[in-house]
Amino acid sequence: MAVLDHIEFDTHETVAFCRDAASGLRAIIAVHDTRLGPALGGCRMLPYASEAEALTDVLRLSRGMSYKNALAGLPLGGGKSVIIGDPLRDKTPALMRAFGDFVERLGGAYITAEDSNTAPQDMAEIASRTRHVRNMGFGPEDNPSPVTALGVFYGIQVGLQVLGLPLSGIVVALEGLGKVGMDLAERLHQAGAKLIVSDTSASRVAEAVARFGAEAVAVGTAHRVPATVFAPCALGAGLNADTIPELGARMIAGAANNQLATPEDGARLHARGVLYCPDYVVNAGGVLGIPLPGETLTMPQRMERAAVILRTTREVLDHAHQAQIPTNVAADALAERILQQGCRRVAA
Ligand code: NAD
Repeated sequence: MAVLDHIEFDTHETVAFCRDAASGLRAIIAVHDTRLGPALGGCRMLPYASEAEALTDVLRLSRGMSYKNALAGLPLGGGKSVIIGDPLRDKTPALMRAFGDFVERLGGAYITAEDSNTAPQDMAEIASRTRHVRNMGFGPEDNPSPVTALGVFYGIQVGLQVLGLPLSGIVVALEGLGKVGMDLAERLHQAGAKLIVSDTSASRVAEAVARFGAEAVAVGTAHRVPATVFAPCALGAGLNADTIPELGARMIAGAANNQLATPEDGARLHARGVLYCPDYVVNAGGVLGIPLPGETLTMPQRMERAAVILRTTREVLDHAHQAQIPTNVAADALAERILQQGCRRVAA
């Protein structure tokens, strides 16, 4: 398996392959960029079909974290880690502690956090071996999802301003009613939007129908329904050569990471006249709400920090409009510029 020549390798500083026979740990830690500070990014555990699939995922996600942290104005670089395995079958405290040993060996270049299929108790196990862990508390203020949902809501507001449309009365097609999606649905409902929703969980769909008067559509069809906004809040890579021609919305803003299957899909959206609010710009609320070293933040203070997204989304959309380029290209260019020039603090 080629690593240095991998199509997603980009300018990664370190890619560490971690193996611990005693606990069965197989993991990859990717440190993309530490020019702005230590590389912060979550640790996810998934039963990847192959090591190659895990490598592609971690490389893409860690670069995304560099860009997300840079645009959000944080003094942090970008990294990510993946543990290869079935979280229900293979996850043990010993495995998480072994992972913590590998994080420790990187000497603080990488800071880990919760992500898909890792939880506060896993972070506590990791923290027994390394101090390079964030957001490991068990309190309600340690849940990043409400801050992420607020940030996505702000992204939607800014996108609609650019289109010259009000939020009240518009239709939003929302895919995924999980920790972020359900909270976002509530905010949109309160702001007067009409909701069309899909989720693989029938109970979550039933909840949104009951609470918000949402209309339910079949899984895999939310992107097609006529709407002003499509908000992907489930899985990545949903915007691709097959789905983009089918889109029923004029604008896209959602929480899912890596929504574009390839960077060319940004150009496809641009050519179709669909306003894409880049994922890592609008879903930065979670990372913005994480306290920096030495800080303690209440939930209201964390929520306040999401307001930065009003400004960064506007900046990206304005730049794309002025330069007549796809919005994903505009976001990457702004993030690259910050990486080269050094961290900037973004006032909300
Ligand atoms: P979650 O696991 O709580 O929710 C995901 C939801 O999507 C679940 O309800 C699941 O049933 C549903 N789902 C799965 N496959 C689906 C499909 N094919 N169609 C429709 N629904 C489907 O996750 P979350 O924390 O709400 O995060 C949602 C997305 O946002 C993820 O991609 C995550 O990586 C990203 N994200 C989350 C945060 C955060 O703070 N939680 C921050 C940044 C990015």
